[in-house]
Amino acid sequence: MPLANDHPVRNRPAPVEDLGKQETSSQLEAFGLACVLRSIALDDAHEARASELELIDDAKRARWVRACSNPRSPRWLRCKVRQCPTCARDVARRNARRMETAIDAMIAPKLVLFTFASLGLHDMEESISTFHRLHGRLRRRKCLRDVRSGVAGFEVKLADNGKRWLIHIHAVLDIDVVDAAAVKSAWTHLTRSRGTFGLHPTRPNVERSHADLDSYATKCTTWCPAPGSMHLPVFRAMTEGIRGRRLLLRWGKRSEGTARYPRA
Ligand SMILES: [Zn+2]
Repeated sequence: MPLANDHPVRNRPAPVEDLGKQETSSQLEAFGLACVLRSIALDDAHEARASELELIDDAKRARWVRACSNPRSPRWLRCKVRQCPTCARDVARRNARRMETAIDAMIAPKLVLFTFASLGLHDMEESISTFHRLHGRLRRRKCLRDVRSGVAGFEVKLADNGKRWLIHIHAVLDIDVVDAAAVKSAWTHLTRSRGTFGLHPTRPNVERSHADLDSYATKCTTWCPAPGSMHLPVFRAMTEGIRGRRLLLRWGKRSEGTARYPRA
């Protein structure tokens, strides 16, 4: 009598046509496992973020974030809290698409960086207002008068010494030639040396492609740091300072051009 392991039918090699099905089924299993692991990780991230919000006395938003842990729920059911791990990524992706559309219509896009340092950890709100006021004045100066339009991703970052904020925008300006020295001098003067200016022709090269903008100009990690990665007093200062601030800025006359680049 044959042993169970020697069963002629059970141990028969899979026909060639079944191999594809087996592969598909194992891919589906792997995909299902990845989905489960992702939802567990997201649940953990939401729970950690909700706990952080409770600890900084924001029980209302903590409740919203906790209820927003299902990434498959429709957008209108989401919490839209800036520090929510799911909603922050959604906002960043949407801003990247809007920025791409604005750049598509530009004639000569140039990527630049404007920074402005706060005086301490707890003056972010005033510093952001000052940044916008001074940047508005700079845009009316001769060195930027030829800018047809501009679009920018707004970010805040803890400075290297951990004692102040680096408020900055990654801006794309529609201008034929940027006089970097003149812009830098005007911005340094306006900000009393608290601000810096840089022209980035190749990081990413927006003249050729803007495929990396979402990981560079509109990334959400600065206003939605990973749960547990920021000390609570700093997290509170950042959360309160950035509340209600626009993360995508646009100015100037919008050009009615045609798409410059093929869609990635
Ligand atoms: Zn959310």
